[in-house]
Amino acid sequence: MRRAYLDNNATTPLAPEVFEAMKPYWLADYGNASSIHWYGQRAKAAMEEGREQVARLIGAQPKEVVFTAGGTESDNAAIFGVVGAASSASKHVVTTTIEHHAVLSTARALEERGISVTYVPVDSSGVVDPAAVGQAIQPNTVLISVMHANNELGTIQPIEEVGRIAREYDIWFHTDAVQTVGRIPIDVDRLGVDLLSLSAHKLYGPKGVGALYIRRGTPLSPLLYGGHHERDRRAGTENVPGIVGLGKAAELACEHMQDDAINVAALRDRLEEGILCSVPLASTNGDIRHRVPGTTNISFDGIEGEGLVIALDLQGVACSTGAACSSGSIESSHVLTAIGRTREQARSSIRFSLGRYSAPEDVDYTLAVLPEMVERLRARSPKKLSAISHQLSAGTAKSLHASPGDHDWRVSVGGLRDMLKADS
Ligand code: PLP
Repeated sequence: MRRAYLDNNATTPLAPEVFEAMKPYWLADYGNASSIHWYGQRAKAAMEEGREQVARLIGAQPKEVVFTAGGTESDNAAIFGVVGAASSASKHVVTTTIEHHAVLSTARALEERGISVTYVPVDSSGVVDPAAVGQAIQPNTVLISVMHANNELGTIQPIEEVGRIAREYDIWFHTDAVQTVGRIPIDVDRLGVDLLSLSAHKLYGPKGVGALYIRRGTPLSPLLYGGHHERDRRAGTENVPGIVGLGKAAELACEHMQDDAINVAALRDRLEEGILCSVPLASTNGDIRHRVPGTTNISFDGIEGEGLVIALDLQGVACSTGAACSSGSIESSHVLTAIGRTREQARSSIRFSLGRYSAPEDVDYTLAVLPEMVERLRARSPKKLSAISHQLSAGTAKSLHASPGDHDWRVSVGGLRDMLKADS
């Protein structure tokens, strides 16, 4: 069966060059980067090269880059770190309603500890108004956290403007740039951020490794306690092969970013236009002018997005209903409801995200199978659709998170396959 991977916002394939660069650090060069012997020093040198490569990609100093286990840890470390280091008795944080759960759940955890948080709403295009961020500032605000681009819509937020406001009020400013690093140019000084989260597996690097940029002089309590790794900013033996992979991925991003952005945006536009022309009652979500190159989010009136994701998967097309970590839950996307979509509209939406290795054939194949899938799903009565979606939700979650051999997943897919066969 032909397969088309259109879920690059969930994770990107590993670049072959990255795999090659990592290989020696799994095999011969396995030293602990803290060891003083030859093995350790080779590992340390490779790690420091990775730090330089990451710093170059975002316009930072190598010393300002701390390696983590990914975007989630970077977000947690930034938010808990700044709040923990603030000495004031009462503390307040400003963020937005469309952040990734790595930020939103961290903010909720702060609230449970008695710290107040303001969630600034966004407009119907999925962009926050910097003035609204400014208005949310209180005398006890210690941190502003606004994501660079939204993972579901791809919309790019006005980080430079928010950065200026944060400076004016002398408040630490964090951005979750997991969806932008390696995809669009980033310069931490131009953005005016004090902290920036990034994750290797969104830029053709390995999973389970990322980095937090920490501007020199930013006070931060550590999230983890242990040894003196990463200049006391992140305890734990460093993931040397992962860091080498992240560094190589960053180097490749510097080389390929412009070409990637042009190619990927052209393919995304071709897919989007093709869908809007061939499928009635389909509409895009979010600002289509200011978004990362590969992302399009489309609502298909009258269908359940989960059902369409499964139907497309059966045809070999991988896409998603917004954030991968919430796929399978029957909750509507918090991002789509935040931009004013109804629960039904939100649940009828699909995110396609293209990347460096997407090909025109992937787009053509998707356009060949999608209209019929939508038509078949629409032919079901809404009531039946909703019942099917509820039945499938547990199985769907497993389908997207567990091994293909999982029993429930097979049952669920089997049920959907039968339903589609019965229709044809
Ligand atoms: N922030 C954003 C915007 C994301 O899209 C993701 C992952 O999807 C994360 C944070 C979490 O990153 P990681 O998967 O590396 O923990």
